[in-house]
Amino acid sequence: MTATRVLVLNSGSSSVKYQLLDMADASRLAVGLVERIGEETSRLKHTPLTGGGAEARVFEGPIADHKAALEGVAAELSKDGLGLDSPELAAIGHRVVHGGTKFTQPTVVDADVLAELESLVPLAPLHNPANVTGIEVARSIRPDLPQVAVFDTAFHATMPEAAWRYALDRETADALSIRRYGFHGTSHAYVSRETAKLLGRTPEETNVIVLHLGNGASASAVRGGVCVDTSMGLTPLEGLVMGTRSGDLDPAVIFHLARVGGKSVDEIDALLNKKSGLIGLCGDNDQREVERRRAEGDASAALAFDVYIHRLKKYIGAYAAVLGRVDAVAFTAGVGENSATVREAAISGLEELGLALDGERNAVRADEPRLVSAEYARVAVAVVPTDEELEIATQAYALVRG
Ligand code: AMP
Repeated sequence: MTATRVLVLNSGSSSVKYQLLDMADASRLAVGLVERIGEETSRLKHTPLTGGGAEARVFEGPIADHKAALEGVAAELSKDGLGLDSPELAAIGHRVVHGGTKFTQPTVVDADVLAELESLVPLAPLHNPANVTGIEVARSIRPDLPQVAVFDTAFHATMPEAAWRYALDRETADALSIRRYGFHGTSHAYVSRETAKLLGRTPEETNVIVLHLGNGASASAVRGGVCVDTSMGLTPLEGLVMGTRSGDLDPAVIFHLARVGGKSVDEIDALLNKKSGLIGLCGDNDQREVERRRAEGDASAALAFDVYIHRLKKYIGAYAAVLGRVDAVAFTAGVGENSATVREAAISGLEELGLALDGERNAVRADEPRLVSAEYARVAVAVVPTDEELEIATQAYALVRG
């Protein structure tokens, strides 16, 4: 029997998201989420997708740690005949946020790799520790199975130095590994490829600007399937306006917050990452709420929307300049896939760049990749639902199959 199943794990500090896929046909066998790990009110929601009409099963009660969480997931999978002890399981694919400069490809994790991942924790203190814990726990449950780390930074490793290097003192920057890395890489990789497919071209002959607009948001410029620039930097804070992150600002704002505002580094970190962006501007980080309030005439929601769109437009223009020739602009993630209002506002006025929307096409809600540009537009505008789990499974499976 050929092992074709891949379990994808996305381990956060207090949550684990998972999907079991069968790579024989890229189908999903089960999906689930464990939340509030370590609290009294933990919750495991498991949805089997085999056997037709299967319903979600929910467990509520204390789940002490990631090990208990993964054991709970394994028990749920076993009930559906999909246990982690199955010989059909080929690999476990792990989302790892930061790969530094070392990990630019999916990597089978052994003790050396685990030690290297630990050394990257200072670059992603909020994310990498949980990712590493997820790998350790999965290894302890199935030590014989390849554990494949797929990095959020990897797709951006092809950026030329002119794009990734900050204009900082080189010695200082290099000593501290300060450079632009970029994130959401599995999404940018997947969406840029799917956009080429939608245009009936190969990735190699397609230049795409990908706009990943979720609660976190990033843009990338992809030339011939290769990332040449992206908006996030050393951390996911740089670039676009996000749900709770400021995106770009003058670095001197930080000195001012410290010297004049009397804030500590940790307070400034929390302010810029958690209390800025849409939520900082108007009190809501959910774009649906921002749009609803804006439609009702709320001035702060309208301002938050305008700041968000202004930044987005600047990145579209910048990446058109970086690429020289643009074949498509692709919108993806929660906001990009669902908000016709954001797409319409972002593209309007960009006719000189060859961009124009078809209002009717843009208004359609669908789960399929689709074109929403006007017939006459020189550059395609696409809405392409992202699928980071499928991309992680695809990369992990390709690696273990050789
Ligand atoms: P993600 O991080 O990709 O899961 O995206 C989550 C975000 O998508 C939410 O915080 C919402 O702001 C946004 N979103 C989801 N549905 C819609 C919608 N119909 N219109 C506008 N924004 C949406």
